[in-house]
Amino acid sequence: MLFYKVPGIIQNLFGSFTWHKDREHKTVYLTFDDGPVPSVSDYVLRLLEDYNMKATFFMVGDNVSKNSNLANEIAQRGHGIGNHTHHHLNAGKTPLTVYLEDIEQCRKTILEKTGVETKTFRPPYGKINRRYSRYLLKEYEIVLWELISWDFKKELNSSVALGKIMKYTENGSIVLFHDQQKSKKNLQEILPKYLDYLSSQGFQTGLL
Ligand SMILES: [Zn+2]
Repeated sequence: MLFYKVPGIIQNLFGSFTWHKDREHKTVYLTFDDGPVPSVSDYVLRLLEDYNMKATFFMVGDNVSKNSNLANEIAQRGHGIGNHTHHHLNAGKTPLTVYLEDIEQCRKTILEKTGVETKTFRPPYGKINRRYSRYLLKEYEIVLWELISWDFKKELNSSVALGKIMKYTENGSIVLFHDQQKSKKNLQEILPKYLDYLSSQGFQTGLL
């Protein structure tokens, strides 16, 4: 059983994190984690261009180093860029100092390769505790998500996933996708239809 929407009780428990944006405006926040990855991030970029939509990419620093042209293209096209650590570390399995240094390495890499100073951070696996977050919140807005597409799951029923995220989308929703190889097939099945849906419902897309 997959939960596509993070329950309000969890969101309230961790109220210092961003789970969604304001409910006043008909704006949805698309986010893509783990890239940039050739042939996947490019696919996402083309699609966003077709729909004239913007997204925020939570990048892994190591992928930015390897694919700096792609990272730069994302920045040039006016999308948002956030920090997702340099080596996709799990906060639950990494000492604090190592974790913070890895985030700093990611920040520097993104700045060097794209000119963007990142102000948002998303912890890999959504794993973060209060102690670690106290340090991070001094410099970053910690952005989680309200809706998750589970696009990285191999056995995903993509039409069910699409139906769920369409159903739960509301003003201010932050929606999680991944621009990584594992997600490509599901992304191709879900994303064009989801963007169609957003467009037909009159949603704008915003930057984090
Ligand atoms: Zn990730």
